[in-house]
Amino acid sequence: MESATAGRRTRAVRIGGVTVGGDAPVVVQSMCATRTIDVEQTVAQAHQLADAGAGIVRIALDSDKEIPALKEIRAQTRGITLSVDLQENYRVADRVAPHVDKIRYNPGHLHHIEKKKTVDQKVQWLVEVARDHDLAIRIGVNCGSIAPAFLQKYPGDQLNAIVESAAYHCDLMDRLSFTRFVVSLKDSDPQKVVEANRRFAERRPDVPIHLGVTEAGLPPDGIIKTRLAFEKLLAQGIGETIRVSLTLPNERKHEEVIVGHKIIDDVHAGKFISVPEFGKGLNIISCPSCSRVENEKFVELAQQVKELTEYATKHKITIAVMGCRVNGPGETDDADLGLWCGPTTVNLKKKDRKVGFFSYAEVLPRLRLELDRLIAEQATNH
Ligand code: SF4
Repeated sequence: MESATAGRRTRAVRIGGVTVGGDAPVVVQSMCATRTIDVEQTVAQAHQLADAGAGIVRIALDSDKEIPALKEIRAQTRGITLSVDLQENYRVADRVAPHVDKIRYNPGHLHHIEKKKTVDQKVQWLVEVARDHDLAIRIGVNCGSIAPAFLQKYPGDQLNAIVESAAYHCDLMDRLSFTRFVVSLKDSDPQKVVEANRRFAERRPDVPIHLGVTEAGLPPDGIIKTRLAFEKLLAQGIGETIRVSLTLPNERKHEEVIVGHKIIDDVHAGKFISVPEFGKGLNIISCPSCSRVENEKFVELAQQVKELTEYATKHKITIAVMGCRVNGPGETDDADLGLWCGPTTVNLKKKDRKVGFFSYAEVLPRLRLELDRLIAEQATNH
C-alpha cells in the first residue's frame, strides 16, 4: 500500500440491502443493456447479472413512458438491489424513486433542462426525493459530459474539471446534510481514471468511490484497460464499488461481473498484469451499450470494426464506436475516427467533423477508406 490514501476508510452507504464503503467488501455491479421497456429481457438480464455476483444492477431510464416497465421489473426482481441511471432527464426521479434503491445523476446533464432553476436547486430536489424514498445517490461525473461551468473554469484541463465538479456536488450534499451518496469519476483512458480518482480520494477520503473505465470496449483489450486502472486504485484502497464496462452481446453481459470479481481477487492475491506495449498502437473505444442503443447490430458492428482494423494495430490511432445519438456525437469528438449508431444508419466522423451517414453495411468500407487516408497522412507528417 503506497499512498496517503492506503487504509482509508470511507463512510458506509446503504443501498437497498447492500452496503458500499465502511468495512464492507468491494461491491461489483453492472448494468442492463436491454431496452427498459422490454420487461422480460430486462428482468432476465438483471437476474443474469445478479446470479453472476452483481451486488447492484443498474437500469437506464429517461422518460415517463418507461416507468410502468420499471415498476414491473421491480416486482419481478425482489431481492436484487436496483439503481436507476437518470441519464439526461433528472426530472423523472420522483416517479422512478418508488421502484429503485439508488439514483445516479450526472452533474454534466443538469444544465439543459429547466434552465430557470439553478443546479443547486435541482440537486436539492433530488436529495429530497432520495430522502422521501429511502434511496442512495451516485454523483456520476464523466469526462465525456463535463458540466459547462467546470469546462469554462478549467479550460483544457478535464481532470481538474471532473474532480472539482465532483467535489462541488459533494459540498452540496454536505450543505443538505445528506450522507448516503457515492461518487464516480470516469473516462475511457485508464491513466486519467487513476489520476482523477486519486485526486478525489485525497480530497474526500470520507466518500465511497464507484470505479469505472467508460467505453473500455471489447474483450480482451477492454479488460486490460479496466485492469490497468482498477489494479492501481484498488491496491491503494481506493474504490468501494466497481463496474467493468465491456462491449458484449446480451447473452454474455454477465462476464462484466465475472471480470470484476477476478480483478478484486487478483489484487488481494497480489497478482497484477504487465503489458508494457499496451496502448501504444491502435485504440478502439466502444461503449457497453444500454437501453438507449439504437440498433441491435451495435455490438456486431464494434466487433467488425475490430476485425477490419487488425491491419492497422501498430498505428497510433483511436477509433470510437458508440451505440446511440445521445452520447455518440460528444463521446466520439476526441477520437481520430468515430462511429455512432442511429436506428438505420451509422454516422462516421473524423475528429469532430462529420464524414456522413452510411448504412450498417456501407459504413465498414468507408471506415477502411478513411483509416487508409489517416495512415497515409501520418506517414507524410513524419
Ligand atoms: S453511448 Fe448510448 S448506447 Fe452506449 S452506453 Fe452510452 S448511452 Fe448507452
